[in-house]
Amino acid sequence: MDVSVKFLGAAGTVTGSRYLLDLGDFEFLVDCGLFQGRRELRRRNWDKFPMPPTDMEAIVLTHAHMDHIGCLPKLVKDGFRGPIYCTAATAELAKILLLDSGKLQEEEAEYAKKKGYSSHENPEPLYTVEDAEAVFPLLVPQNFKKPFSIHPSVEVTYYHAGHILGAAIVKVVIKGDSQTKKLVFSGDLGRYHDPILYPPTLIPEADIVWIESTYGDRVSTPVKPEEELASAINDVFDRDGLVIIPAFAVGRTQLVMYYLYQLVKKGKIPNVPIYLDSPMAINVSTLYKDFHQDHQLIAVLDDQAQHPFQHSQLHYFRKQEQSRTLNDLKGKAIIISASGMATGGRVLHHLFHHLPNERNGVVFVGYQAEGTRGRRLVDGEPEVRIYGQEVPVKAKIYSVEGLSAHADQNELMEWAEGFGEKPKLAFIVHGEERSAGVLAHKLKDELGWNTIIPNYLESFMLFEEI
Ligand SMILES: [Zn+2]
Repeated sequence: MDVSVKFLGAAGTVTGSRYLLDLGDFEFLVDCGLFQGRRELRRRNWDKFPMPPTDMEAIVLTHAHMDHIGCLPKLVKDGFRGPIYCTAATAELAKILLLDSGKLQEEEAEYAKKKGYSSHENPEPLYTVEDAEAVFPLLVPQNFKKPFSIHPSVEVTYYHAGHILGAAIVKVVIKGDSQTKKLVFSGDLGRYHDPILYPPTLIPEADIVWIESTYGDRVSTPVKPEEELASAINDVFDRDGLVIIPAFAVGRTQLVMYYLYQLVKKGKIPNVPIYLDSPMAINVSTLYKDFHQDHQLIAVLDDQAQHPFQHSQLHYFRKQEQSRTLNDLKGKAIIISASGMATGGRVLHHLFHHLPNERNGVVFVGYQAEGTRGRRLVDGEPEVRIYGQEVPVKAKIYSVEGLSAHADQNELMEWAEGFGEKPKLAFIVHGEERSAGVLAHKLKDELGWNTIIPNYLESFMLFEEI
């Protein structure tokens, strides 16, 4: 048996994760993500898939972020009908996120039609809500640490990656005619000291490793994020202002809720009302109870207990009318709302109403990509455009670091050192050119690894006649 791989994404960039494994009589995909960010990258989402989706027999997912699952509805629309394996929590998260993505794609197409900026007479969405729903019956949930077979010669096992709920490292064991080979895909790796998620699992052996390199060139500062968060909040409360925290619905929101709860308990911030104003974030938070075995927050199991996701000062606002009541809110309170980079979602109307008041504060808790409204605010622009109007930025803008869901360079190296024997080859993926390059060097210099930074659409023969 010959085994080869083709890189259909996350090669020289952080998005569009999809690796096609070809065993001759069996082709399967690891991850099926969307390209995000720059226009020329996003354009790839519209390209014809490099091979007919009907040729592929299975998909194995690492986790539910859009850059790992966002292309599934398009693939299914184009004819893919095989099983899509993932952890049980990833399956539930994928449903929530794909529906939202379908809705966004529909809205974007509608907007392009209205504004007439599309080169197409009738701009079509990449996929619709209905296309997203067509993915659900194909999802095949699996347990962590329990090997399962996707083909008579291929066995897969999921291990905790610590990145988001349900996120997994994937081990693929291929039984050839004469040899058995192990492939390990890191997926996205999380932090080693996350208060909610388990740390990334160390895998003792592999022939070939795919390692992510999002922060391959960055070492995070040892500051405690909860202290930075407390100091920003107290600064705003000293002015009797309101705190707005734009946060991603998956992961970041729950981490912020965890730290706020701990800070109140320790008396580091006053016990004020906290409004979680994001239906998606609320749905995601409830999954922490369903999948309690996948994280360390045992308290969520108890409906009576006070815990970070359930206490007397925490208010879940699902309805639009509830959200609107926050427009007149004044004084000490905290609103957590999506999206995290203020590119859309309910947080926009909170910013619209509360940015012009110099007592208030906006606390960003994640990376703000170039070109986003969040980035313009962090960069100190005096006005930002929201709902077609220039809104004066009088509120103070804060940026709290250290709440990232990605392993930094030291943590990536720690994971790499976990292999008892060095793998024969490592593909450095899921990183911009610089960070992939820096990590590749470090792995070579310090651990003697043989590394390759693959290019988009490049293929490699992995094993011949095994
Ligand atoms: Zn991710």
